[in-house]
Amino acid sequence: MTQKDQQRQKVYTAERSMYNETERFGSLEEVFEFYTRILKSKRFATQFPKTARRLVPEGGKAKYRENTRLYRDFAWRHHKVYGREKGLWLSYGRERGGSYYEHGRRRIQLSKNHFNKGVAVHELCHAIVEYDFLLAGKVAWHGPEFCHTYLYMTKKWIGQDAHDKLAASFRKHGVNYRLIGKAAKLSGAEGKLGIAA
Ligand SMILES: [Zn+2]
Repeated sequence: MTQKDQQRQKVYTAERSMYNETERFGSLEEVFEFYTRILKSKRFATQFPKTARRLVPEGGKAKYRENTRLYRDFAWRHHKVYGREKGLWLSYGRERGGSYYEHGRRRIQLSKNHFNKGVAVHELCHAIVEYDFLLAGKVAWHGPEFCHTYLYMTKKWIGQDAHDKLAASFRKHGVNYRLIGKAAKLSGAEGKLGIAA
């Protein structure tokens, strides 16, 4: 069973100062291009093989298509989804709030006010924690595993400055991102996430 998501609010508060300064995307298509670049990189596939396998569309090429399925409250207004059925899907959320990762459907929803690299990385980190950690499925959504991965991915895909800012903000707001024992282990061949935050 998943642990209680105790530090979620702290993470939300702490991350804002970082992601507000990251590059903004002009469209959902640009967000998808950013994800595709990450997911198709060799480094990502080596480090997070399960996530790569589940989210990279088969055949390697992401495809845009109009969504014709029934939704709950998503694909709001535009009713568009990026991706293919077997890979990552990406859809619009409402203008404010409502960004999340839905692991069963391998789908990321971003609201328009979250069209920036920081939030995009945040949502992708949920997939990594869900699929590639040894303790996957037994950890809190915004627990230390998530926060550690978030720092790692921020450093690799946004930059050192954004990473340092996020780490400082985590410390200021008392967010725990330190991994000990089994929590630090990935289930793939790469072992641990090599990061000293
Ligand atoms: Zn989250």
